[in-house]
Amino acid sequence: MRRPIIAGNWKMNKTIAESKRDAKAVSACASKDVDIIIFPQFMALAAVKEAISGTAIKVGAQDIWHEDAGAFTGEISASMVKETSQYSLVGHSERRQLFGETDAIVNLKVKACTRNSLTPVLCVGETLEEREKEKTLKVVTRQLKSGLDGFDPAHELIIAYEPVWAIGTGKTASSAQAQEVHAAIRRILLGLFGEKFSQSTRILYGGSVKPDNIAELLSKEDIDGGLVGGASLSPDSFIALIKHCREI
Ligand code: PEP
Repeated sequence: MRRPIIAGNWKMNKTIAESKRDAKAVSACASKDVDIIIFPQFMALAAVKEAISGTAIKVGAQDIWHEDAGAFTGEISASMVKETSQYSLVGHSERRQLFGETDAIVNLKVKACTRNSLTPVLCVGETLEEREKEKTLKVVTRQLKSGLDGFDPAHELIIAYEPVWAIGTGKTASSAQAQEVHAAIRRILLGLFGEKFSQSTRILYGGSVKPDNIAELLSKEDIDGGLVGGASLSPDSFIALIKHCREI
């Protein structure tokens, strides 16, 4: 049985004070049945860690650079982030699209995470054009295989399937569309790392997840939770997502 995860990606939103206040509000809903992870902006990581201390809520970074230290102005490393966080998103579509992140860089970031005992949340997903050309599985397979090149399955891994056309657009993949890709991802993990790893790895769906569609998505066999942007920004809707998840 895979424990569900509700992960809130706050993106470039909320000041440190707002992040702290909202993390505290969400922490009232901490539960042993659902893993809750908050991904605040970098400056707020320490404040959020403090706000949720003593609860089961976890903190993650939205990105890292793949070197541990050096002349990389404006960047932050996994070895720095791990002082406050247990997770890092890697390869979010906004990083791939807006900042030109390639599969090769994503792979180096996955390795930087595991080298520093952070669990990578590897994001994969196709664009609308790729879906319309029926290339979804080809793209997701390429992103997974290159992102996980050299990955040691002794480490924990979380995958987030996020169709790019569904992120921040209000369009959600149907639960059947999402399940089809999640099942394919699990098959790829099986081929790469074996039965135990593929069965225990949690695969989250992301793309306009809201309190009114989370239950339907979670009813599918291979959907183990949600990576949520917009609907995680208000503590009320973040908490509503967690409550739906607990009822599954
Ligand atoms: C995301 O940023 O990962 C995401 C899925 O955003 P949204 O829920 O707003 O579509």
